[in-house]
Amino acid sequence: MNVGFIGLGIMGTPMAGHLVAAGHAVGGYDVVPEAVAKLAAAGGRAASSVADAVEGAEVVITMLPNHPQVEEVVLGAGGVLDNAKPGTLLVDMSTIRPETSIEVAKAAQEKGVRVLDAPVSGGEAGARQAALSIMVGGDEADFAVARPLLEAVGKTIVHVGPHGAGQVVKAANQLVVGGIYALVGEAIVLMEGCGVDAKTGLDVLAGGLAANRILDLKRESMVARQFEPGFRIDLHHKDMGIAMAAARQADVSLPMTGLVTQLVAAARAMGHGSLDHSALLKVTEQLSGR
Ligand code: NAD
Repeated sequence: MNVGFIGLGIMGTPMAGHLVAAGHAVGGYDVVPEAVAKLAAAGGRAASSVADAVEGAEVVITMLPNHPQVEEVVLGAGGVLDNAKPGTLLVDMSTIRPETSIEVAKAAQEKGVRVLDAPVSGGEAGARQAALSIMVGGDEADFAVARPLLEAVGKTIVHVGPHGAGQVVKAANQLVVGGIYALVGEAIVLMEGCGVDAKTGLDVLAGGLAANRILDLKRESMVARQFEPGFRIDLHHKDMGIAMAAARQADVSLPMTGLVTQLVAAARAMGHGSLDHSALLKVTEQLSGR
C-alpha cells in the first residue's frame, strides 16, 4: 500500500520502519528533519511536508503527541484533509481525547475521507517489537482495510466500537498503567524503607498474584532509578486528563484514577515531565522524605 506517515517520534519511527519492512511504500513527515532522515535511511521516502506525505497515499497514519497537533495536521490549512483524495483512509494512532476523534471523523466525512481512531498500548518496546495492542474505533469496513497495516505494527488488534471508542479504551488502559506504576513505586519505597532488597522482593512479586507486564519489563530499571523515556510523564499527564474528562462526561466516579492523576501532576510539577512514567516512584520517595 502507499502510506503517508506523519509523526516520527519514539513510537512513529519504529512503526513506520515496520511498514517499510512489510513492503509498503511509506512517505514520512515530521517537523524534526532528523526523524525524517532516519525513515529515509530505513527505506522510506522523506516527505517535505504534510501535503507531500499525503500525496498519492491510500492510507495516512498520524502518530502525534496530542489533540492540538492532530487538529493542526489533519484539520489545519495545508493539512491532511486539504490534500487527501476522496476515499483516502486516515488512521490516527495518537492518544487524544475521544471528542477530537469524533470531530475529525465528521470533518473528514465532508471531504469523503474515512477515519479510524487507533491508539496503541505496549510502549516503546511494543513499537520496536511490532507487538502493540491496538484499539480501533470507527467503521468495520474501514477497519478491514487498515488491518494489514495494523498487523505490521501490532499483535492484539481489536475493533472496539464507533469513532472515539478506541480513545475511550486507551484512556482505560492509561489509568490502569498509571495505577500499577504508582503501586510498584510504593512497593519499592516500602521494601527499601524496611531494609529489604527491592529487586529481590520484586522478583518474587513477579511470580505471584501481583505479576504484571510493568513488573516484568521495568522492575530492574525502576530499582536502578533509570528513568529515560519510554513514555514521558508529560504524555501520561495528558492521558490522565483525558480519562478524567471522559469520566466526567460519562457521569461516573473513578476515585483511584483521581489519585493517580494527582500523583502524575505532582511528578510533572516537580520537574520530571520529560522522564519516563516509571519516575512516579520519585513522587512517592519525596512524600516519604527519601
Ligand atoms: P513523541 O513526542 O516522541 O513523537 C511525536 C512526534 O510528532 C515528534 O517526533 C514530533 O516532532 C512530531 N510532531 C509534532 N507536531 C508535529 C506536526 N505538526 N507535524 C509533524 N510532526 C509533528 O511521542 P511518542 O512517544 O511517539 O507518542 C506519540 C503518541 O503515541 C502520543 O499520543 C502518545 O500518548 C502515544 N503513545 C506513546 C507511547 C510511548 O510509550 N511513547 C505508548 C503508547 C502511546
